[in-house]
Amino acid sequence: MRWIVIRMTSLWLAVFTAGAASPVLDNSSSPHAQVRTVGLDEVQWTDGFWARQFAACRNQMLPSMGRLMEGTNYTQFFRNFEIAAGLAEGRYRGAPFNDGDFYKLIEAASAAFAVTHDKFLDRHLDRGIAVIAKAQRPDGYLHTPVIIARRNGDTNAAPFRDRNNFEVYNLGHLFTAACMHHRATGKTNLLAVALKAAAFLDRAFANPSNELARNSICPSHYMGLIELYRETRDARHLELAKRFFAMRDLVASSGEGGDDNQDRVPFLEQTEVVGHAVRANYLFAGAADLFAETGDSATWAMLERVWTNVVEQKLYITGACGALHDGASPDGSKNQRQITRTHQAYGRDYQLPNTTAHNETCANIGNVMWNWRMFLASGEARFMDVAELALYNSVLSGVSLDGTNFFYTNPLRVTDPSPTELRWSRTRVPFVSSFCCPPNLVRTLAGVGGLAYGKSNDAIWVNLYGGGTLSTKLADGTPIKLTQETEYPWNGRVRITINNCGLASFALKLRIPGWAKRANVRANLGPVSDTTPPGSYFELRRNWKPGDVVDLDIPMPVQLIEANPLVEETLGQVAVKRGPMVYCLESSDLPAGVRLMDTSMPADSEFLARYDQRLLGGVVALDTTLSARTPSDWSGKLYREARPTERCPVKVQLIPYFVWGNRGPSEMSVWMRRE
Ligand SMILES: [Zn+2]
Repeated sequence: MRWIVIRMTSLWLAVFTAGAASPVLDNSSSPHAQVRTVGLDEVQWTDGFWARQFAACRNQMLPSMGRLMEGTNYTQFFRNFEIAAGLAEGRYRGAPFNDGDFYKLIEAASAAFAVTHDKFLDRHLDRGIAVIAKAQRPDGYLHTPVIIARRNGDTNAAPFRDRNNFEVYNLGHLFTAACMHHRATGKTNLLAVALKAAAFLDRAFANPSNELARNSICPSHYMGLIELYRETRDARHLELAKRFFAMRDLVASSGEGGDDNQDRVPFLEQTEVVGHAVRANYLFAGAADLFAETGDSATWAMLERVWTNVVEQKLYITGACGALHDGASPDGSKNQRQITRTHQAYGRDYQLPNTTAHNETCANIGNVMWNWRMFLASGEARFMDVAELALYNSVLSGVSLDGTNFFYTNPLRVTDPSPTELRWSRTRVPFVSSFCCPPNLVRTLAGVGGLAYGKSNDAIWVNLYGGGTLSTKLADGTPIKLTQETEYPWNGRVRITINNCGLASFALKLRIPGWAKRANVRANLGPVSDTTPPGSYFELRRNWKPGDVVDLDIPMPVQLIEANPLVEETLGQVAVKRGPMVYCLESSDLPAGVRLMDTSMPADSEFLARYDQRLLGGVVALDTTLSARTPSDWSGKLYREARPTERCPVKVQLIPYFVWGNRGPSEMSVWMRRE
């Protein structure tokens, strides 16, 4: 990406030159990134799983999200900007983070434009951006709840009065959206708004008080500011990001921090993932961006510690994060004065309940963002493994097959009756008052092509498998074009054809997922020596020529998974995985009269993997036989004497977890009692 930055009056404006690509995250100049990103315009999904997901995102999710956010049926998003701009009368309606969620829609539309060059999107974006720009105060402040309140005569309304106003969250998403829009369209209209807002933040947080320092809720602004630095090369944005990270220690040292916001313990001294899972994952994603720019070893060491805590003690089998609706942390601490309330939060080590799992879709998306950034910084496959796990399971589960209904939480078990009343709907719904996840899903699915590949000086990294093309350039300008054909994730066979490769030798690096038992690689139909262990990248270095073919075969046997016995909620149970997909049993697939909670999996279960194009949009289902106990009445009983009960075999199909809940109200469980 090449931009010339020129100073005009008080604004820094970047001027588009030529030869640009449009990555979601531009680490092309980051000194401590091992892998560079590719542009969304360089990746096309042509066939198969991700092509279908992208088409659903572009054709269903994006237009319906646009209608919802530009309308006022549920609450208002765009209308708030119109009122703040003086183009309409009224009061602010909605949650204080609605501005940020509207910026996510703008980011999603910009990402979709980068791929499709759809003029309609471009024109539509310009109309929306004009209103956003008009809503911005001359000093750069932009937060419609406060601007509207001032317009309506509330002289007490002022910036940063309440940390729960989510101002920096909103602005962080403005920065990220502005970078994506600039890269996709070459236009500076939203970037100019973002730069004015960043300059306002710079002044407002020049010498932050302890109270002001607490304004760091759902911190998308670390990622946003570092991306703004990458886009403009203006070091002030990176310095401001560093100041925001340092501010966290003001809160910790004041004794007013808490685990919910990850500011009880000084930033670099954290050893455990605690508190609100979206906040934690966004914070660590931002810290991984910071590391890519600074190379600070203490930052990386902290990230390694908390990452290890997540994957070894706190991650759901679906890649989901944030076990608790509500809790206290540090729970069980001898020092009771440290304990604060948490919500939507990581729990204790091994505390992974299924029915009451919170697992907000945004936390699972945050997990992908964090792990992708850790991968880019290190080139290590273990991070892409986690990103892939979350994407296929607990991210995609957040949206219905028709793209218009959403989960806020992603439990691993749902029963009727539920053992307890819970805050959020157990079925997908078109709207929730906390509407952060749906636009987050749209931008993630619009930009997933950017995760699929990476590049380093003389290598192309294939991170995600899916039918499509990559057309990019290596650092020395060598053009690379390749085509990927595969039915992944339903089938582990992948064929990559080199279409264009210049004259240089380069390596193709293929991710062998950690779940694989083995992988077979062939080049031009001949075997290639393969000693690469699963959970790493297989490197194939050649003087390639157009027409060369690489075949990768990763067998996908059905795997039964058990959890560490310290996870009390899954004792004596197993879950079923095939490839990256986690499976579940849904009551829609049980015969009449058989209750989900009466079923169990015999020790000698066999599975038949079967692709069914008419089932749930086309998935591989697993046919198997479970065992069902005679239904019994537990009403009014907490305990009873255990006696042998009659069992009968029941034939069922297990379905991928992400498509559960698309056939009307049902019960569902990922974990099944093992006989
Ligand atoms: Zn959310």
